[in-house]
Amino acid sequence: MDKLVVFDLDFTLWDAGGTWCDCTNPPYKRVNNHVVDSYGSQIVLYPEVRSILEDLTSENIIMALASRTSAPSWARQLLDLFEIEDFFAYQEIYPSSKIAHFNQLKKDSGIPFNKMVFFDDEMRNIQEVGSLGVHAVYVRDGINTSIVKKAIASLK
Ligand SMILES: [Mg+2]
Repeated sequence: MDKLVVFDLDFTLWDAGGTWCDCTNPPYKRVNNHVVDSYGSQIVLYPEVRSILEDLTSENIIMALASRTSAPSWARQLLDLFEIEDFFAYQEIYPSSKIAHFNQLKKDSGIPFNKMVFFDDEMRNIQEVGSLGVHAVYVRDGINTSIVKKAIASLK
């Protein structure tokens, strides 16, 4: 049975300069490994994000995004500038309870909630999504490899 590994964006995959991406000021520009907005604020991926996404891809694990940002088009621009958008087979990016995002992910992927892992930095999202039966993992200080490995192992 396939698994689905789902990530939040703000403060899980990236730090948008100490705030959420909907509080930044586009247009954005890629500078080396990070992105800057028009005010010069830096948006960075957490250090292990790229290797996590590459490792899971090499293990044929399907990945998705679930973000409730109020600026979906800005989030998509950031995914594009960081060149990570193609890692995610499903991308649910819109304001709403994340229950809506996960119902859609289940419908689109055919993967049941108990075969999904979800990473997020906000306890309300962890509680709501966890109530569906998803293995929801609270992330502090951004995603890292050991959190991901441990969570995926716990599904088996
Ligand atoms: Mg977040």
